[in-house]
Amino acid sequence: MVLPSKKARKHLSADGLFERIRSGFDQIPDLRSGQPEISLGDALMSALAMFSLKDASLLAFDERRRDPTDNFRTIYGIRRVPCDTQMRALLDPVDPESLRPLFVDVFRCLQRGKVLEDFVFLHGSYLLSLDGTGYFSSSKIQCPSCLVKHHRGGGITYHHQMLGATLVHPDLKQVIPLAPEPIIQQDGSAKNDCERNATRRWLKRFRQEHPHLPVIVVEDALSANAPHLRDLADARMRYIIGVKPGDHAFLFQRLRDADDAGQTQHLTQVDPDTGVVHHFRWHHQVPLNEANLDMLVNVLEYWEIHADGTIQYFSWITDLPLTPDTVFDVMRGGRARWKIENETFNTLKNQGYHLEHNYGHGAQNLSVVLAMLMMLAFLVDQVQQHCCPAFQAARDRYRTKRHLWERIRHLFQAFLFASMTELLMALARGLAPQQPVFGDSS
Ligand SMILES: [Zn+2]
Repeated sequence: MVLPSKKARKHLSADGLFERIRSGFDQIPDLRSGQPEISLGDALMSALAMFSLKDASLLAFDERRRDPTDNFRTIYGIRRVPCDTQMRALLDPVDPESLRPLFVDVFRCLQRGKVLEDFVFLHGSYLLSLDGTGYFSSSKIQCPSCLVKHHRGGGITYHHQMLGATLVHPDLKQVIPLAPEPIIQQDGSAKNDCERNATRRWLKRFRQEHPHLPVIVVEDALSANAPHLRDLADARMRYIIGVKPGDHAFLFQRLRDADDAGQTQHLTQVDPDTGVVHHFRWHHQVPLNEANLDMLVNVLEYWEIHADGTIQYFSWITDLPLTPDTVFDVMRGGRARWKIENETFNTLKNQGYHLEHNYGHGAQNLSVVLAMLMMLAFLVDQVQQHCCPAFQAARDRYRTKRHLWERIRHLFQAFLFASMTELLMALARGLAPQQPVFGDSS
C-alpha cells in the first residue's frame, strides 16, 4: 500500500472530507429569496450527518436536536439543524445533478493522496463494477421521478432504481463508490427509463469527469450485448463481462466448435496450499451472437474444483488479451464484480445504512437526493475504512460494524468532541467518561 503524505492524509480523514463536502454543498444554489432561517448547506449537511450516524429514520435523526452536545457544529459544521419537515422541504427541490461534483471532489482527494493507487488492478487500470439496484417501491407514494409499473390486474407500482458504480479490487474489501446515476422518469419521455439508458448517460458523464482514467468495466451477463460493447468502446473502456451458456448459445456453440477443432487454449493450475484446481479454457475473436458477427470478443471459461469435489464454473467475454500469464487476473477481475452487490448494495441495504427505508419521498427530487447523499456518506466511510488510522483502531474494538455505529451514535449523543477523529480516538482507547480523553488527535 502506498502511504499518502501527512497533508493528503489529513484531507482524507472524516473531518477533512466533511469540510470539503460542506464547502461543496455551499456552492449549490439556494433558490429561495431573502435570508432563510436555515441554509441549504446546513440542510444538506444534516442529511449527510444522518447517514453518517446511520439513523434509521428522519424522525430518529430529529430526536438528536434535543441532544445536549454541540457535536453537529463541531463535527459536521452545521450551524442550525432543520427539523424533519424542514429538511424534507429544503432538500426536495435540490437538483440531484448538483451533487455529482461532490463525488468527483472526494475522488480527486483520493488521487492526490495516492490512495487510489491501492486500487490499481492490471497494467495501471482500475476495475469498475456497474450494476443497477432498486431501493424504493410503493403502490401509493409517488413523485414525478418514479418509474411506473402497471399490473395486469389494474394495480400500479411506483419505484426507484439507480445505477451504482464502484471501483473494486479483488484483494480489498473496501470499494470506492462514484456518483450513481438515478434510473428515473426522464423529462419529455413517455417511456420508463431503464438501466441501459442510465448506463449510457453514466459512461458519458464519467468520461467528461475523468477523461484519462484507465478502467476495465466488470458487469453481469445482462450487459453482454453488442450496443453496450460499442458504448464501452466509445467511452474508451475495456471490459470483463459475464456470459451464460443458456443466454449466449451461439457464442458457446462457436466455442465448442473451436474446441473440437483443437483451436482453444487450456491452462490448469493446482494451488499447493488449498488443493484447489483452477482450470481455464479460452479462445480469441469469437462472434458475440448471430446478429452481430462483426462484434468479436475473447471468451474465457473457468472451472474451480475444490478438494471436496465441488465445482464452480464461470465464463466471461473480454477485450483483454488472454494468455497463460493473464487468465488468472482476468478471472479474479471478473469475480470482483460481486463487490458491487456484496460490499455496496448489500451493505447499504442490510449493514446499517437503510437504503430501502423511506426517509421521505417528496414531490420533486427528495427520494433521489437522499439516495445520493447516502452514497456520499458511504464513500466517506469507505475512505475511512481504507486509510484512516483512527477509524481502523476504533473498528478493531468491535465485533461488527453495527456495534461500531451504535457506539459512535452513543458517544455523539453523550459527549462533546471537537472532531470525528477525536470521537474515534476516544472509542479506540476505550472511553472513560470521567477522564479527559480528548487531548491527542494526531
Ligand atoms: Zn418517486
